[in-house]
Amino acid sequence: MQLEFWGVRGTAPVSGRDMVRYGGHTPCAALRSSAGDLLIVDAGTGIKRLGERLMAESGKATLEVDLLLTHFHLDHIIGLPFFAPLYAPQAVITFFSPAAPKETEKYLGGLQMGRYFPVAFKETASQKKFLKADEAGFSVGKFRISHCPLNHPQGSVAYRVEEGGQSVIFATDTERPEQGLDERLASFIRGATYFIYDATFTPQEYRVRQGWGHSSWLDGTKLARAGGVKNLVLSHFNPDHNDSRVAGMVRLARKEFRRTFAAREGWTVRIEDE
Ligand SMILES: [Zn+2]
Repeated sequence: MQLEFWGVRGTAPVSGRDMVRYGGHTPCAALRSSAGDLLIVDAGTGIKRLGERLMAESGKATLEVDLLLTHFHLDHIIGLPFFAPLYAPQAVITFFSPAAPKETEKYLGGLQMGRYFPVAFKETASQKKFLKADEAGFSVGKFRISHCPLNHPQGSVAYRVEEGGQSVIFATDTERPEQGLDERLASFIRGATYFIYDATFTPQEYRVRQGWGHSSWLDGTKLARAGGVKNLVLSHFNPDHNDSRVAGMVRLARKEFRRTFAAREGWTVRIEDE
């Protein structure tokens, strides 16, 4: 399968000369299976460019989009009104979230109603389906998907997406318990090929931001070791952390877990069976 990063910034989009290396768009990633199935994870501002790419690739043919939402905080859905396939009659978009389908439709519709946006979500031309992401697991094409609850205000989930023997974990909005590790998450990520984790804070910042629902690179390295993952990818970067601060976090993290990388907009990872 192939993993593509379209937005890796948490909380709020940013721009600036010192924010170009990792990028300023909020969370959005895409996975493509060996059979060409497309799965999108979250609809932050990064989804805008992905949508343009998908429209160019598919032309007038039917475009099937399966979109997994981790939760409904703005940074994870704010790109949706700017996602070109939403307005394309040939697009069939299936929205999966841990919430009930009616709730998902209501929360997404809330972005495009009243004075917030000129076109109502319901009136967009694509065909839309809403499904509850089954915690026990479900399939999209060749992908097998499961999820695990995370410690985040109003809730969030980690997704595990597998094809063949390869797996990618998305755990971008979470906080460890007061003592020790999130043991449930450590077992959920067991043996993953790529473990994408929340690196919003430095360990120093975390001390004064407990209860905000986010983590540091240090928590990521501890979980990566406990779960025996192959690669740790730090993501959901703080809008106040510039390129050199993020690079510094990755350097420190590598001392704790050697195969640590930073997510960055435009990074495509080919994950082959070994
Ligand atoms: Zn977030």
